[in-house]
Amino acid sequence: METDKTEIKKEYDELVKTIKHHMDLYYNQDEPEISDYEYDMLMQRLKEIEKANPDFVMPDSPSKIVGGTAKREAGVKITHNVPMLSIEDVFTKEAVTEWVDKVHALHPEADFSAEIKIDGLSMTLRYSKKDDGKLHLDLAETRGDGLIGEDVTANALVIPDVKKVLDLPYDYLELRGEVYMSHEDFEKFNEQQEKAGKKTAANPRNLAAGTLRQLDPEITRSRGLKMFIFNIQDGPAELMESHCGALDILSDAGVPVVVHRFCKTAEEVLAAIDEIGSMRDELSFDLDGAVIKVDQVSLRDDFPAGSKYSSGHIAYKYPPEERIIEMDDILIDVGRTGKLTFTGSFHDPETGKPARLCGTSVSRATLHNQDYINEMKIGIGGHYKLFKSGEIIPKLNGCVKEPAVVYKAPDFCPVCGSPLIREEDTADIRCINPTCPAQVTRTIAYFTSRDAMNIIGLGDTLVDALVNEGYLHSYADIYSLKEYRAELIEKGIIGKEKNTDKLLGEIENSKNNDPVRLLTGLAIRNVGKSTAREIMKHFDDLMDLTKVTKDGFLQIPDIGETTASDLYEFFHEEQNLEILGRMKDAGLNMKAVKDEDASDKLSGMTIVVTGTLPSLGRKEAEELIVKNGGKASGSVSKKTSLVLAGEAAGSKLTKANELGIKVISEAEFLEMIK
Ligand SMILES: [Zn+2]
Repeated sequence: METDKTEIKKEYDELVKTIKHHMDLYYNQDEPEISDYEYDMLMQRLKEIEKANPDFVMPDSPSKIVGGTAKREAGVKITHNVPMLSIEDVFTKEAVTEWVDKVHALHPEADFSAEIKIDGLSMTLRYSKKDDGKLHLDLAETRGDGLIGEDVTANALVIPDVKKVLDLPYDYLELRGEVYMSHEDFEKFNEQQEKAGKKTAANPRNLAAGTLRQLDPEITRSRGLKMFIFNIQDGPAELMESHCGALDILSDAGVPVVVHRFCKTAEEVLAAIDEIGSMRDELSFDLDGAVIKVDQVSLRDDFPAGSKYSSGHIAYKYPPEERIIEMDDILIDVGRTGKLTFTGSFHDPETGKPARLCGTSVSRATLHNQDYINEMKIGIGGHYKLFKSGEIIPKLNGCVKEPAVVYKAPDFCPVCGSPLIREEDTADIRCINPTCPAQVTRTIAYFTSRDAMNIIGLGDTLVDALVNEGYLHSYADIYSLKEYRAELIEKGIIGKEKNTDKLLGEIENSKNNDPVRLLTGLAIRNVGKSTAREIMKHFDDLMDLTKVTKDGFLQIPDIGETTASDLYEFFHEEQNLEILGRMKDAGLNMKAVKDEDASDKLSGMTIVVTGTLPSLGRKEAEELIVKNGGKASGSVSKKTSLVLAGEAAGSKLTKANELGIKVISEAEFLEMIK
């Protein structure tokens, strides 16, 4: 008996740790690693254990915490008039019926509303009557931790679905709704990011959250957020009688409201849940569940719920959609660092077509590495369960019919034929031949990319062509291309004379780049743009790096053991030195750019720029702050040293005055750095 309890306590402690980790990722970092469903399942198990073992429960158990604590400082904090509580989840239809019966036992007259619940983020809008007799939007606030949110009014104003003025005869109105991003806008964003070589978003929810918290409303506007209202938090008696009735009044006034069904019985509620579930494929956003609410708002407080839950509501969570797929092929790709990635290509054996999942066609999924492949028994002809994690990334979830043979990675690189190496500490398999064409192409394309040498016009496709035609073997060869000008024009690889000369001109111009770009472009493992910038602060010439010891690299702030080794190895490999030498001879600038206007006059200061300045743009002012040794910050806090304010400075100026932080004008600022 006792050992049982010890075992359960061990499981419980692990669970608390795991859930807290995922809570932090979700609430504070907007970067969940697991799907909401997986998260909910962990939470369910935690509650089960707590119910059976009340003595385990600590005050800070995840079951007692509403959400994450709102850690971001990017905006002004707002205490909600009405707390924005969570809704208790149920996972079976029996639980829904049970809940409806419980409600009816207390109030036989209770009606219900069944509504779409989506994977977005909540926002509250406060309106008040102005001189024209209409309701005007005063404030928009995010959910935050449920009690305190963030002021995002400036961004709410650029969302078309958010009504700025409502022609309704009330004095005050507080609406709560869901802000979301359609799959289409999400994919458009990621495509653009990919093209620009920037980080893509993991799912629409994260992107919507990040977009709503942007400091620049123009960015918010450009990304196309949407919103619908699902609750009246506060308002006149007329709107508080029937929830569905109130939604209809709002809808008539032009407010986008949630898809809702008025129900009287448990049967009607279940039918509405099925109907909403069947919309999944047609919706332009991720369905998260169905919310069931008591329609008569006055009755809602009568139903006891945990203190952190909204009373009179439950949320039914649909099980994740799953399909069985048949594996057709295992594709190998050799990346820039030589790492092999495996992708499964498959079809739905029932339809003979790609699998339909959450409204999209899926025919590929990552197979990670050989360990994963072995564990999942992946091979051609095998059948596997497929689902979408977080409804975005397709994942295999168990083998249902084993293949004749489990796939085994080749011993030789499929591109260059060199023997492959399996790394000891990871399951990664790499081609370590530095002249492997797969790596050469990717490395060169990275070298020319926007973050690195920024050679406009020399993108992936052209690099591919130039490698295949034998013009490029390493990035240093880019600077010899001009010797083949006539040949290139004749073959038309780049284009005719005009385009060829244009690109050759771009290549020549890139020689003058700050060596930070060159160092970034060398594609040394663990050395991205910001690390490259940090390194070049400590050297006058990029070629000096060839003389630095490993310990020398370790002296640079933010450079750890691994990066120091990677740097040392790179700058001591003969082939790399030869390539660097060729680039230096070709006239590439190796001298660090030391800014002559730079100073440390603002050293140790954190300065916030707000409002419209007479002559400087906000970016410009922030650059000047950094250049003079200060730190530019987007939000006012106790740590702020100064606020540089111009015309129409809003909430940040108010906050600065509240905290007693010194506010200066542009003239005063320019005087400081003179
Ligand atoms: Zn290779």
